[in-house]
Amino acid sequence: MVKGKLHSIETFGSVDGPGIRTVFFMQGCPARCLYCHNPDSWKMSDGRETDIDELLHRAKRGMPYYGNNGGVTFSGGEPMLQGEFLIEAMKRFKEVGINTAIDTSGTYYDKNTRGVIEQADLLLLDIKHTDSEKFTELTACKQDPLFKVIEDIKEFNKPIWIRQVIVPGINDSKEYIESLNEFIKDFKTVENIELLGYHKMAIDKYKKLGMEYKLDGVPEMGKEVMEELRALVRFPGKEMKKAC
Ligand code: SF4
Repeated sequence: MVKGKLHSIETFGSVDGPGIRTVFFMQGCPARCLYCHNPDSWKMSDGRETDIDELLHRAKRGMPYYGNNGGVTFSGGEPMLQGEFLIEAMKRFKEVGINTAIDTSGTYYDKNTRGVIEQADLLLLDIKHTDSEKFTELTACKQDPLFKVIEDIKEFNKPIWIRQVIVPGINDSKEYIESLNEFIKDFKTVENIELLGYHKMAIDKYKKLGMEYKLDGVPEMGKEVMEELRALVRFPGKEMKKAC
């Protein structure tokens, strides 16, 4: 049986997809996002081995709480690194009626990615940056995998939640939100768009790990600016309200 590498498990999660969810944070990530909260999830060798039986057992314990729209989310790290494992796991979850979501950064694509997208009930897509150069500055990855992921999501017509972290000085502008609106305008299946304000909660983790925190000195996003930016977000297919 194919094995997986796990970072951690969160039960009763309520921020990684709809409803109450069991969240499996998979180990390994090719990106090096400047604001990453989980730098300890980057190296595959740091995770612990798991198998589908273990995850199924854990996921089943949450079933009384999932309701109509809860279930399981595979997050990370970057779960697409473990595509073969995810495909098999999601097939097993489906057999027992557990809904599955994949939380991906679009920084990785291989021969299994398409199959992962096909199996998932919902995709949470973190748009790191709409501009390819800035995307690379922020993640140390190329943007190409993101476009392949988007192509597959569209082809399989999968429901999608768009997530965007807003960082002062990087993308906290009206122009950026306009570029985001443009970037996602062809998605017909967007169910939710979340703008998440940058915060500094991860700094201590970097210190403990002896790692440099490259956004040191960048302030947290203010609530008011976040509200202003959220008001500018347009769901694909909907006209922007004209200013009077
Ligand atoms: S994709 Fe996620 S886990 Fe990977 S570096 Fe970026 S924020 Fe961290």
